[in-house]
Amino acid sequence: MDLDVKSITKRYGHVTALSDLSLTIPAGSLTCFLGPSGCGKTTLLRVIAGLETAEEGQILLGEDDLSDTPPSERNFGVVFQSYSLFPNLTARRNVQYGLECRGWSRGRRRARAEEMLDLVYLRDQADKLPEQMSGGQQQRIAIARALAPEPSLLLLDEPLSALDAKVRAELRSEIRSIQQKFGITTIMVTHDQNEALEMADQIVVLRDGQIEQVGAPRDLYAHPQTRFVADFIGAINLLDISANAEGTAQFGTQELRIEGPLNGATTLGLRPEAITLSDHPTGAENSLACTVTNTRFMGNLQHVELRPNDAPDQLLQVEMNGLAQTPAPGDQLLANFPADALLVLR
Ligand code: ATP
Repeated sequence: MDLDVKSITKRYGHVTALSDLSLTIPAGSLTCFLGPSGCGKTTLLRVIAGLETAEEGQILLGEDDLSDTPPSERNFGVVFQSYSLFPNLTARRNVQYGLECRGWSRGRRRARAEEMLDLVYLRDQADKLPEQMSGGQQQRIAIARALAPEPSLLLLDEPLSALDAKVRAELRSEIRSIQQKFGITTIMVTHDQNEALEMADQIVVLRDGQIEQVGAPRDLYAHPQTRFVADFIGAINLLDISANAEGTAQFGTQELRIEGPLNGATTLGLRPEAITLSDHPTGAENSLACTVTNTRFMGNLQHVELRPNDAPDQLLQVEMNGLAQTPAPGDQLLANFPADALLVLR
């Protein structure tokens, strides 16, 4: 069943944390709430969980209005950033805990706990206390505990942010494959764009308690509508332009070819990997004569920074294959890109 967030407003005193926010979380999807600190991600998750009460609006699961249902009766599994396991219970008892509360029989509880421990590859750790396990293991147990009672929704509040990079990467793909295996509708709060791009079916970009843009990862990357989204998801060149008399984009003293209308936009986005460099004209729709100012070798990639000769107060970042020949500062090169690589941003 889809989860519908309808016109939710949540205030803390004078602070409006969520402002008339509406959203559908499709059944079986993994949706990420993404945005900078303070944008309202956690508040929205907590309102959905029932841990906060909104002043206005409704939370609907299918046809059921859950707005007045207490959290314990929503049948949602929740995992927090701090693993929040019961410190005095073994891993197995932690996983079984929610089942005891729901009155599952002893045999069923035990079988379900074994199944969940297998799922997170920790059956051999079942008799350990939380303090005897690593952070990654504790978070796996927290996920097993949340999933054990067969919740209708899984809510994850920055579940990976306390873990080191390697464990985080492993758990990203584990959580995604568990979520897909069970087809469980899942919401994850994160401020890490890579996490959202890698894991989500749908990303909700939040800003100041409102939705800035919603879409599939590829969609948001390829078609950001605003400067905020373009800048928040992936690296991008933001070109300051003005509309010239013909209504096309003027970049310094050069005109740029774009697809579609400018609609009053004063910023164009251009992904670094959409630009190719050459020392001779290639027939590209856009070609800017540039001076190389800097290069950075990153292994598989290299970044080249250039100053467009016709717009010398702006810089272009270009991403090239790490094995390609590296230009030198001062080199004169053409930065080539097609019209449809220029993103018109609000
Ligand atoms: P972070 O990534 O830093 O956790 P967030 O996007 O999850 O940020 P929220 O925690 O949802 O943001 O906070 C949204 C706004 O509401 C912020 O301005 C925050 O200061 C405010 N806020 C959140 N919780 C409370 C509270 N209990 N009392 C008062 N203000 C709060």
